[in-house]
Amino acid sequence: MVDVGAIAGMLSAIKSARDLSKAVLDIRDEAMIRESIIALQGKLLDAQESAFDANDERKQLLDKIEALETEIKRLKALDGGGERCPSCGKSELRVTRSVLSPHFGDLGVRDHHLKCANCNFEDVRQVTR
Ligand SMILES: [Zn+2]
Repeated sequence: MVDVGAIAGMLSAIKSARDLSKAVLDIRDEAMIRESIIALQGKLLDAQESAFDANDERKQLLDKIEALETEIKRLKALDGGGERCPSCGKSELRVTRSVLSPHFGDLGVRDHHLKCANCNFEDVRQVTR
């Protein structure tokens, strides 16, 4: 004789077991997801820290560039804007006169008379254009 109550009880037990295993799986999935989220949050924090470091480094580099630009301006202001004098080393050597060369003027050669505003050193250079 079929015991309907026993079958129903068995079915109920099977359903409970299935629900239980499903719940266990859900818990495992949830735990895995939590672990993944925690790992991801860790990576995000690392990335954020790295971004902060990069930003600090960027700011330091910009400060350095600004300091170097200021130094370049200062050095340019010291520079006389002329050619470097072979005598005193200052950039104060400038062309004061340019005349056709008495010897090679026919060939387009000019004499450039140069004088240093710092030490009065004088020189003549023959140039062609
Ligand atoms: Zn000089």
